Formats: sequence, structure tokens, C-alpha cells
Amino acid sequence: MIPVTKPFMPPREEYEEYLKKVWEREWVTNNGPLVQELEQKLKDFLDVPNMLYLSNGTIALQVAIKALGLKGEIITTPFSYVATTSSIVWEGCEPVFVDIDPHTLNINPALIEEAITDKTTGILVTHVFGNPCDIEAIQAIADKHNLKVIYDAAHCFGTTYKGRSVFEYGDISTTSFHATKLFHTVEGGAVFTRNEDLNYRMSRMRNFGHAGPGKFDGVGINGKNSEFHAAMGLCNLTHIEEILNSRKQQCLLYDKLLKEAPVQSISIQEQAEWNYAYYPVIFESEAVTLMINKALKKNDIYPRRYFYPSLETLEYVKNEEMMISKDISKRILCLPVYFDLTNTEQVSITKTLKIVL
Ligand SMILES: *Cc1c(COP(=O)(O)O)cnc(C)c1O
Repeated sequence: MIPVTKPFMPPREEYEEYLKKVWEREWVTNNGPLVQELEQKLKDFLDVPNMLYLSNGTIALQVAIKALGLKGEIITTPFSYVATTSSIVWEGCEPVFVDIDPHTLNINPALIEEAITDKTTGILVTHVFGNPCDIEAIQAIADKHNLKVIYDAAHCFGTTYKGRSVFEYGDISTTSFHATKLFHTVEGGAVFTRNEDLNYRMSRMRNFGHAGPGKFDGVGINGKNSEFHAAMGLCNLTHIEEILNSRKQQCLLYDKLLKEAPVQSISIQEQAEWNYAYYPVIFESEAVTLMINKALKKNDIYPRRYFYPSLETLEYVKNEEMMISKDISKRILCLPVYFDLTNTEQVSITKTLKIVL
């Protein structure tokens, strides 16, 4: 069976070395030494000033919304994972969808201004499939209308924009280290900001608002992560160059194998170095997409309709039709990419695909 993705598993002995230390210390959570070590190593690797390691990427979004004090309406994208929208609703705000660009699949900045009202306080958008949004255009609109910007950068580990980690852009960037992501800690996530006050506030928020034993500084939540998760991250980080490189080679091979096929791939943002986290392909119609999906499944290959459905169709949001997002969501599949996927498997995946096309 070939799934759409598999978690990278480091050599077990490497993980067990960390377990020994955990057993010696009997310190298993609450900002332990492995969590601190992982935070430092990730900051060094990504070359970012601040990062707070959290329990998952959804809590990261919620902490970001809370820390910026967003209220009322938040402009967002209909083409993302459900957590982008549900976090907005969970924080008591209203998502206002703006349609996407059909080539990058990111929010179309030219449509943002007409969606802004006097209730709008922020923009929360996803760098879809690790491909940066039009950051400059979004920041200009935010500055003009005094809005905060949060990037859901859950797919972006290793992506750079203008030579800097894409996590450095926006008021806050969030990411996910879930097992399905390029770099993972089983479950996990993070928030990034260049603003020291915000960073301080979020560091309190992730730990119930504690400012010392019996002392509280604002409302908080339990957003901490454990030594066991951090240990997985420390192991995986030593293999990150191989992981990034294998993804890149696999995507380039798919490009080659599908060169003649009638499929559309995404346009990467100029001045970005993409991390090749996913391999999305867009077909000419939903009928063809479903046929491909079926043919692949028959061969024990499981791509994913990602993202499907378009998020404005959720029952708990205002259903304003997003033509492009809805259309693309019906015609897109992410082909398998994961560390030990072989070239032979990729050839067989594209062969099956080309028979239908
Ligand atoms: C994975 C993902 C999330 C949620 O992250 P978790 O760590 O699973 O909570 C949010 N947004 C996007 C775009 C994602 O892909």
C-alpha cells in the first residue's frame, strides 16, 4: 500500500538514547530540558529570534488569535485545512472568506480590501502547501487598514522568502509539527513572532498564564508539550537535510514523469525557496479527479483530496460561495510524498494516472 504520506521514523536507538535521559531525570513535561533544547535547535536551524514550542498547530492558531486580541471579523482563506477556520470560530470571531488565486492556491490579495468592514481586526491566511502567500501585498493592506496578520504556516518547515524563514513574516506565524508534516514531533506546533512583548505574552498563555508559582499574568491555556514529543523532534531534526532533499527529489521526479500529462501544478511565489512539502495536481474536472482517485485506489495507492471541501461550505460559517476555491477543491489531489517512497513507486503512480488521462 502507498499512502499519501507516512511519518518519518528515526532509527529507534536514537530515540531510546533520549528516553534514557528522561528516565534518569524523571522530568517528563513542563518546559523540560528536551523541550528547551528543541526550541533552541529549531531557532538556530530556522535562524529565527523567537519560537515557542506548543502542543499542536491548532492551539498555536488559537494562542495567536488570543494574543493579538482579535475580535469581530477575521479575513481568511477558504482553501486550507479545517483548523484554520475552526480556530477563528472557536475564539469567538467570524471568518470572512476571500477567494484564492487559481495558480498559487493562496488568498487573492486583490480581493481582500472589498471584504474589509469596520468589524475587521485581522487577516489569518495559509501559505498553502508550503508556498508563501503574496506577503508584501497582504502586509500593505494590513498596514493601510490597521489589521493584524497571522500566517498559518503549518506546511512551511524549511520554506524561505527573500532569504529568511517564512515563519518570520506577519505579526505571528504558526506551524504544526504533526506526524503528517514534513518535520514532526508526533504532535506539536509552534508560534513565531519578532515582537518581544507578544512573545512574552504567548509564553505565559501556553502555561495557564503562570508568571511564577501562585502568580498569574492574564488568561492562559495548557499549550505545553512533553519531553517525549521533544525527543522525537530532536531525533528528526538530525535527519532534516535528508528529509528535505528526498521531498525535493520526489517532486522533481513527478514533474518529469508528468511533463506531458494534462495536469496543472501550483505556481511558486517569486523570491521563495519552496520546501516541496506536498505534490498537488489539479485535473480538468471533478469527474476525471474521481476516476484517477478510483484507479489509484485499485492499485493500492491512496492520494488525498486535499483540501476538500472548500471551507465556506462548513455548516457553522456564513456560506458565501467561493467560486475558485470550490472549483479547485473538487479537482485537486495530493500525490504520495514521504521519506521512503521509491522512484519505482512514483513511476507506477504516474503510469496509473496517465492511463486514465
Ligand atoms: C495540520 C494543519 C493544521 C493543524 O495542525 P495540528 O498540529 O494538526 O493541530 C492547521 N492548519 C493547516 C493548514 C494544517 O495543515
